[in-house]
Parts: sequence; C-alpha cells; structure tokens
Amino acid sequence: MGADGIPHKNSPDLDASPRTGVLVCECGEEIAGVLDTTALRDTAADLPGVIYTGCEAYPCSKDGLLRMQQAITENKLERVLVAGCTPRLVEKHFRDAALSAGLEADGVEVVDIREHCAFVHAHDPGAALKAADLIAMGVSRLAATSMPFPHSYALLSSALIIGSGLSGLTIANSLANAGHHVTLIESALELGGTSHTFQENAKDLIDSLIELVSTHSNINVLLDSRLTQVAGSPGSYEVIITSGNQAKTLAVGAIVVATGAKPLPLDGSRYFDPLCVVTHAHFAQELKGAATAGDDLAMQDIVLILSSEADGEDHGSHLSSLTGVRQAIQAKQLNPAANVTVLFRELFSAGENHPLGEKIQQAKELGVTFFRYRAETLPVIADKTVDIADPLTGQPVLLPYDRVVLAMQLVPQDNADTLAALLNLHQDKHGFLIEERTRLLPGRYSDTGIYVVGSAHQPVDTTDVLLQAYMTSSRLQRFLNQDSISTSAPVAEIAQETCTGCGNCVQVCPVSAIQLIQKDSLLSLAEVEALCCTGCGNCAVVCPVNAIIIPGWDDLAIVSQINSAFSSTHTRDDTQNAVLPPRILAFACEWSAYASADLAGTLRIPYSSDVRILRMSCSARFDPQHILWALLNNADGVLLGACHPGDCHYGAGNLYAEERVKVLKQLLADYGIDPRRVRLEFLAGDDGEGFVETIASFRDDLGRKMIKPLRSIS
Ligand code: SF4
Ligand code: SF4
Repeated sequence: MGADGIPHKNSPDLDASPRTGVLVCECGEEIAGVLDTTALRDTAADLPGVIYTGCEAYPCSKDGLLRMQQAITENKLERVLVAGCTPRLVEKHFRDAALSAGLEADGVEVVDIREHCAFVHAHDPGAALKAADLIAMGVSRLAATSMPFPHSYALLSSALIIGSGLSGLTIANSLANAGHHVTLIESALELGGTSHTFQENAKDLIDSLIELVSTHSNINVLLDSRLTQVAGSPGSYEVIITSGNQAKTLAVGAIVVATGAKPLPLDGSRYFDPLCVVTHAHFAQELKGAATAGDDLAMQDIVLILSSEADGEDHGSHLSSLTGVRQAIQAKQLNPAANVTVLFRELFSAGENHPLGEKIQQAKELGVTFFRYRAETLPVIADKTVDIADPLTGQPVLLPYDRVVLAMQLVPQDNADTLAALLNLHQDKHGFLIEERTRLLPGRYSDTGIYVVGSAHQPVDTTDVLLQAYMTSSRLQRFLNQDSISTSAPVAEIAQETCTGCGNCVQVCPVSAIQLIQKDSLLSLAEVEALCCTGCGNCAVVCPVNAIIIPGWDDLAIVSQINSAFSSTHTRDDTQNAVLPPRILAFACEWSAYASADLAGTLRIPYSSDVRILRMSCSARFDPQHILWALLNNADGVLLGACHPGDCHYGAGNLYAEERVKVLKQLLADYGIDPRRVRLEFLAGDDGEGFVETIASFRDDLGRKMIKPLRSIS
C-alpha cells in the first residue's frame, strides 16, 4: 500500500475477525475529486478486524499492486478490501496479485465507490455516507464468508464432436493432429453436413476435410449416430451414442456441438409460378450449372430479396446479405445483359473486415441495382412482377422477373432441443443454442468442456464458421492439455451432518449438479458435483435446514452486509415524526442489475444516494429470509434486480425469484407489512437508464407510503 498505509490495532474484535487491510482508491481525481478518501480510510480503520488502511492513487497499477502485495506480507493480512471501481472489471486483477503474495484469492473483495457512488452522487452530501457503508459491507462480507474449497479432478484428453459440417470437420482434424483422440458423430449417412448446399464456397474445403478426417488414425467416425445420454462432469464425461439399435458408451473429456442450422424449403403454394421463385440454395445450383456448362445464364430479369419468406426476422441476416450479393455478382458475370436487382431492408456486415462492403462495390460496378424497402412495405411477389414502394416517394415500383431469389430461412436442427437438454445448454426464443457470456466475468469462469460452434448458435457464413472453429480448437486444446482440471470458483458445499436428504436442492438445480447418495446409514444425503455447479445459489434458498453454503453468497455473508448497509446512517434521528428519505437496499444480480448500475455510473446518471447495492451471483439466490431481514433492519424498501425472462445466465433463476417474491409478498401482507416495500424488476445489463428509472420510481412510491412508522413492523 502507499506511503500513507497505516498499520494499526484498533478493534476489540481483532481476535475474532480476520486481519484485514482496506485500500481506498483515489482513481486520480475520479473518486478523490468527489469523496474525501482520507476520511473514508480513517473511518474504515474503526471497522472490526481492520489492522491496515491506505489510500492509493491507482492501486490497479503495477506499483499499486506491488505495494498491496508488500502490505499483505508485512502485516500478515488475511483479507484485503479495495474500495475503487467495479469489481466486474478489476477483481480478478487484484485477486491474482493477492494470490502471488500468499493470500487466498477469495480473501480479496472489491467494492465500487466509483460507478456506484462518486460518479452518480457528485453533488450529493449522502455520497460520503454511502461510500463508508459500501466499505463496511465489504469488510463484513470478507469477515463472515467462507472461502471456496479448491476442487481438482483427472481429465481425459479425448473429445466427442457432434456434427460433421465445416466446423465439426475442421475441429476434428485440428484436434487429431494435436494428438487427441476424437469421436466424430453424424446423424446422416455421410459426412459433410448441409451448409455446402447453400454456401457454394465451402464445398471444396469440406470435401478435402472429409478425406483427411476419414483416414485419420486419431479419429473415429460414426455415421447415422446420435448422442442419447450424458453423465459426468467437465473433463470426464460418459456419453452414450446410439447408432440404429446399437448403443455405445464412450468416455471423453470434452464435447463439441457443431450441428449447424437447417434450411427450410419454400412454401411453393404461395407463388403464382413456384418454379420462378427459388431460394439461394436452388439459385446456387442454377448458377453452378451454367458456369460448369459454360452457358450464359438464360434469365433476363433477376430479383434477389435478401430476406426469407417468413420474414419479419431473418436469422441468417449476415449470411443472406453476403450470399445474395455474391449471387448477384455471379449472375451478372454469367449474363452481363441481365437486369439484376437486389432488394434489401438492411445490409448486414459482420464487422470491419467482413467482405460485404467490397462485394457490394463490385456488384455496383457490374451494374447490379440495389433497392431498399421498408419493413411496413415488404415486396409483394405478383404474377409477373415484384411490387415494392419507392422508399422516398412511396410510389409503386414494379420489377418484372423471370427469377426471384429469396434468402433461405435457417432454423435450428431437429436435435437442438435434445442436445440443449442433455448438455444443459440455454436456447434463444428460436431454439438456437445461446453463447455463454463468460467474458463478462472472467474471474469466475470455469470451463465446462462443452463448446458450441458455428451455426448451431446463429447462422454464419463460411468465413465466420472457420474463424469460430479455429478459436474453439485452440480453446479445446488448452483445456484437454491440462493434467487435471481444477476450480476454485464458488460452488455449493453441503454440510452433510445437517442435510436431512429431503431432496429439495436436487429438484431445483438447473444443471443437475446435486444427487442424493446413499450413505452408511439409511439416509441418502445430497452431494454436489463441484465441476458442474455454477454457484447460482438456487439450492441454498430451498434447503430447509440451511445445510448449503455458497462461498461468497452464504447466509452469513449476505446477512452481515445487510446489517452494515446503513451503518453510517444509523445515527439519523428516526424518532422524529418526519417523512424521511426512503432507504433502499438493492439485491442486484451481477449479470443484470449490478451491471446496469455500473453503466448508470459510467454514464454519470445521478440517483438517490440512499440506495445500497448488494451484489448477488444470480437472482436464484434472492432468499425471502434475507429480504425480510433487510426490511426489519433499516431498509424501507428492497429492490430485487434480475435478468429479463429468457436471459438468466443460469437458466431460470429469475423465474424462481419471481415465484418466491410472489409468495413472500402474500406473507408480508398477512403479517401487516406493506408488500409494496419489495419490488422485483427485470433489468438488462446494458440498461443504465432503466436502473436509474427503477430506483426513482421505487423511491417515489416508498416516499409516498413509507413514512417513519413503516420502518419497523410494530
Ligand atoms: S448452486 Fe446452483 S448449480 Fe450449484 S448445486 Fe446449487 S442449484 Fe445447482
Ligand atoms: S435441500 Fe438441504 S436438507 Fe434437503 S437434500 Fe438438499 S442439502 Fe439436504
């Protein structure tokens, strides 16, 4: 810590509390320009267990980290609290540094006095009290919480790949070349998938990969085969593959889902002449036929519409934009006299280096006409013409055609639901498998050994498929090359001496990480597969005997933070019969509400400083007992911020929370407590304004109803 780091011995609880250091970050003037960091440091010195305090201009700098490590060593610190910017940004950084200084990584806590305080309460006298409370909450959490227990398991260096399109073949070949044994399963009777039928540029590559994969000594190919059962944990999965009537059991370390997407055929009954209205895939064959035969393309008026017939939403937007423009170029090259028109609502380019811009330029130079239409005036395919409205004048434009080419509608493969259920993967509203947003919390991320690649997520073109396949291969190799797999991420721990074997936890675990195991006695007791557990906390809420601990989010850690949340404001004179500004304790899921509060800070949107934010792993961990405790201990209102339905990082934590809040509100009403003191809100992590609006509206409601007598339930 800095030169002003002060070792001191001040607390009567010193023997009971871990030796704690508090470091207050000035962040240049970003924090110090608003908050008196020296006063915060001095206030922190009075907290139980705090034996060292300091202020640092930039603790996350190389020098700052070195001084923190020095302070840990010299003062034999067991815990360190950094009061600075958002933990989502810097916690891992501090934890890694503390680990090298001999401290347990989870002995470091970061509380946000920048985005959650200095940035949003710049001219608010309550800012100092809030910052002091946030530090007190952090110190009490550090003192109360249990440390995660590191788990380590053996790892198999083999992989199962499901799907033999471009991505599956690429990954299989690359893993096998790196010495890993690969089982490649394909539900069809031949390798290659379906993408080459509509992405003509993939065909040659797929053919050459099929040859390599079919003869590779490290690859076992199973055709007409499906994954029907999965057990085990990351690094050691036992899978059952069914081929016809035969079932085969395999042990693999990792599983790759590379099943791609499926094109839907057109509904021919909708068109006057279905032979003239075709998909990109069909048109690709026509173009190829003409090119191979060396013939001109025998069409004069070609209209390509870059959206599918279902429309409204086109899942293949990048893909259809690029494919459509490419085909327009080919058509013009084969028949320069043809009138080729591209109708589009939006042209989607997947990033700066995406080839679409260059292709559009080439198409224009060849004489292809581009015509934009609006969502409310979609093109109508009439008998002889495609009819659209000019977007500028609104006047009808009739384009004659002898071929209309529609983008294909690409949908998830038939087995997407089955795979999602077997592998605990989330799906979007269309059924595509959702990509994990692990980048948002790198420090808490542990690799599951299950990877989804390519169009199984969302339709992508050949370039993107290859990019994803190479990236996945390298992640897989890093994963499979480990001697063993270990995690110290917070996962559920069960006190077997307390567990009664009721099975509640087993029922609510979204990833089937808990099982009841028969013990010596008659009882079957709960056991957690640590590598499968995501630490969502759903099980801890339903355990009737509090046998489950989620390190960092255990009952003690949460309750101690609730107790400290308004500790600096306890002295406010509540005995006066005056309307007091309502105090709000916000339990904030770190993927949604906490992130939106961070963003509100970054955008510097002010809100009441009488709000304290308690970071939670997931809304699944919102426990009615904690909410009640908060209402009984100085919170006028409890805000619960969760992800929107369908967006929960852990599956359905938000839906469990919604159900629990409903029941709790009924109970509150029965006991004479105004249930409007509890509010559940669904928030998106990128909605800083939404967070502030929610606080303002809840505060208004509380201000109207929560005058002093309601602060207690008497
Ligand atoms: S914390 Fe969540 S994932 Fe882990 S065992 Fe409990 S319910 Fe399952
Ligand atoms: S809910 Fe609690 S008591 Fe019931 S089986 Fe799970 S750990 Fe044991």
